[in-house]
Amino acid sequence: MSIRTKATAAVASAAAVTLFAGTALAASPGAPGVGDPYFPGYGNGGYDVSHYDIRVNYNPTGDQLSGTTTILAKATEDLTQFNLDFLLKVKTLRVNNAPASYAQDGDELVVTPRGGLRKGQDLTIVVTYADTPSQVKDHNGYTAWTKTPDGALAIGEPEIARWWFPANDHPTDKATFDVNVAVPTGVEAISNGTFLGTTRQINGWTRWNWRSTKPQAPYLTFLTIGQFEVRQSTAPNGQPYVNAYSESLGANLDAAKASVERTPEVIDFLTENVGPYPFEAQGGVVTPYLGYALENQTRPNYDAAFFRRGANTYVLAHELGHQWFGDSVSVHHWRDIWLNEGFASYMEFLWSEHVGEGTAQENADFTYDSYPADSPFWQVLPGDPGAANVFDGAVYDRGALAVHALRVTVGDEKFFEILKTWTAEKKYSDATIEEFLAVAERVSGQQLDQVFQTWLFTKGKPAEAPGRATQVAAADAKVAPKKAAEPKSRAKIQLTHELLDAHK
Ligand SMILES: [Zn+2]
Repeated sequence: MSIRTKATAAVASAAAVTLFAGTALAASPGAPGVGDPYFPGYGNGGYDVSHYDIRVNYNPTGDQLSGTTTILAKATEDLTQFNLDFLLKVKTLRVNNAPASYAQDGDELVVTPRGGLRKGQDLTIVVTYADTPSQVKDHNGYTAWTKTPDGALAIGEPEIARWWFPANDHPTDKATFDVNVAVPTGVEAISNGTFLGTTRQINGWTRWNWRSTKPQAPYLTFLTIGQFEVRQSTAPNGQPYVNAYSESLGANLDAAKASVERTPEVIDFLTENVGPYPFEAQGGVVTPYLGYALENQTRPNYDAAFFRRGANTYVLAHELGHQWFGDSVSVHHWRDIWLNEGFASYMEFLWSEHVGEGTAQENADFTYDSYPADSPFWQVLPGDPGAANVFDGAVYDRGALAVHALRVTVGDEKFFEILKTWTAEKKYSDATIEEFLAVAERVSGQQLDQVFQTWLFTKGKPAEAPGRATQVAAADAKVAPKKAAEPKSRAKIQLTHELLDAHK
């Protein structure tokens, strides 16, 4: 569902037609990637997916996954073949009801439909498969699928889909999803969106049915299987609200509940500050086996460790903040990761101020003072961190300082108007940092490129913490800036970021 992808494909297609004018050879293979500079193999060219129907069986004993994914798509150019991103063993593959030939080549599944495809043609792609995902490695020798003692986790960024369903795996091609997972009765299988209930199977298994009706990136689609307490209710705004707590949380269970049960409250707070909540359901999942947290659409997954020092609503502010910044408005290329992590981290500052545990300014001052000028921290550019540093601490902490720098430059009224304009104009889409700068300049009426240059694109520690110099000057021009005192929220925010940084 990407307008930009379609536009690019249309240009490429027009060029091909010109090149082969007068011949019947206009069709060509779809590109093996969408052209992401950090991850060239991610996504594919030549088609646009509108819906995934994932229907799988999973047996925790032996980590056996099998089933069928049906993909509804449209060809965006004349194609002789196209790729899907997929690693598991394929059993059959059909395109528009005819068997298609296929070959698995590294992380790519190369599909050759009979007779080729015409631009604009509707596609129904049906892939059946069976494998042991935890034993399947990508071309880097890496496995994102996690086998746990009682089930499995299909959770990952920037990639996870290829370990459980074939996809056009890039945030620029979003789609709606039905996820239906059969597991042995007594095991729980949690995913995104609205829970449509369970259905008992002839073989004594139980199928869990989930539906996402808003555009969703493949990497934000998750599957969490194991022994869970599932809590279903309705949020105050009327949306379905489903939380799941692993039965292995031990001493962290109560602190996890005292945090995640406040999800609708945090969503309401964010709604007031950044605009209407973009999705149709709410919730959260807590497991001891993840090691970090991820902003899976409508229902983030949290590791139990976030709650080891008691309730932690800062990790909720972060992951729920991503529902706007990352999930609804996604990165155009992974280089734009600041649009996700800088803003999600800044939502923690706003939440700290809201609950009276330190203002955003105090948090910005303390963060700025936490990293000495010679720290390698200041050498990573949040605006272009490089593929290896997409989840570096600088993208989060310096990224949040960049957001604060924008706020103190344009003032509160314009700042929140910028955020609301951004989340409305780019809803269910993808975007670049440059597009954000353009919106910020248009809404504020100010030229802001210098702020962005300083905080996102220049190595080294900027001379002043954003907002502090004017504050000190106003209080007493003769007093030099002192080292900031630690806000009450800092310990929880720091724990949150240490665990999020572990995700690399
Ligand atoms: Zn994040």
